[in-house]
Amino acid sequence: MTRTFSGIKPTGHLTLGNYLGAVRRWVEVDQHRSDALFSVVDLHALTVEHDPARVRRLTRQAATLLLAAGLDPDLCTVFVQSHVDEHTRLSYLLECTATDGELRRMIQYKEKSAEARASGESVRFSLLSYPVLMAADILAYGTDEVPVGEDQTQHVELTRDLAVRFNQRYGHTFAIPKATRPPVAARVMNLQDPTSKMGKSHDSGAGIVYLLDEPDVVRKKVMRAVTDSGSEVAYDRENSPGVANLLEILAACGNADPGELAGAYASYGALKKDTADAVVEVLRPLRERHAVLAADPGQVDAVLKEGAERARERARPVVDAAYRAIGL
Ligand code: ADP
Repeated sequence: MTRTFSGIKPTGHLTLGNYLGAVRRWVEVDQHRSDALFSVVDLHALTVEHDPARVRRLTRQAATLLLAAGLDPDLCTVFVQSHVDEHTRLSYLLECTATDGELRRMIQYKEKSAEARASGESVRFSLLSYPVLMAADILAYGTDEVPVGEDQTQHVELTRDLAVRFNQRYGHTFAIPKATRPPVAARVMNLQDPTSKMGKSHDSGAGIVYLLDEPDVVRKKVMRAVTDSGSEVAYDRENSPGVANLLEILAACGNADPGELAGAYASYGALKKDTADAVVEVLRPLRERHAVLAADPGQVDAVLKEGAERARERARPVVDAAYRAIGL
């Protein structure tokens, strides 16, 4: 059976980008057709300046939201990364496999280290080694498929390189994973700045729809989206990124094709209104289930405890084999 692994960082509140780019497919596709593990990857939230209480709170909120979105513990495994030691155990072996040069070439490292420096912070070593821990997250489970948004493509490529290198040098140990993407909305853009992705860690929150935003807040954010100075609704990511982004969001919400949708609209106003309505409807059941689950923290705890046990069972033999293969 195909093994699937993917994760989400508790560095902020989950966004529409996280949902359309990743979580929705985990719910609708991956948990039904594979042995799937989904993790709130809390260790990855420590790579930049962080508040311990906030990380703990966001970890629980992310796990609750994954369940509210429809991940079913009877079909898949939901757990918190730091509850399973195999991730950090394997990460060190992969640090001994990766090179300094290939990590410094990672786009996300370049961007985030520049941001940290610009705000006067020192750059944590873990920001550089982050893709190695991510590779460990994936490889520890003998993962075949990694359903992620477009922004993670480079990290999954590195994971493949490390797996191939390790296998060639020390004998076959890891499955070689591949990234899978949604047909549309693999890169949801910020509504106020459609040249940058809708990322949850953005401080101001401008142009970002959060999964727990109230319907009127969602509507306001979508209605205020930046389009362009033209008036024709065309699907053109290059020249009209704001409009293309709205079309992709609307298409993803209704399983439609953004190019075809473009022809149905005569004005930006109508497109925005329908997009806002569609997003509100997609998020409504999720918000409702979140409220129920958040009122019953014991249930979430039980799911995470069992999830960690199941994850450990799957990771331990792979990581033990890697230790033996490398000479320990
Ligand atoms: P973030 O960038 O919001 O911190 P994570 O690194 O936690 O997101 O990623 C969780 C999942 O959500 C990944 O599969 C990532 O590719 C996906 N994702 C994040 N932002 C977007 C976006 N704007 N559009 C599509 N997918 C996204």
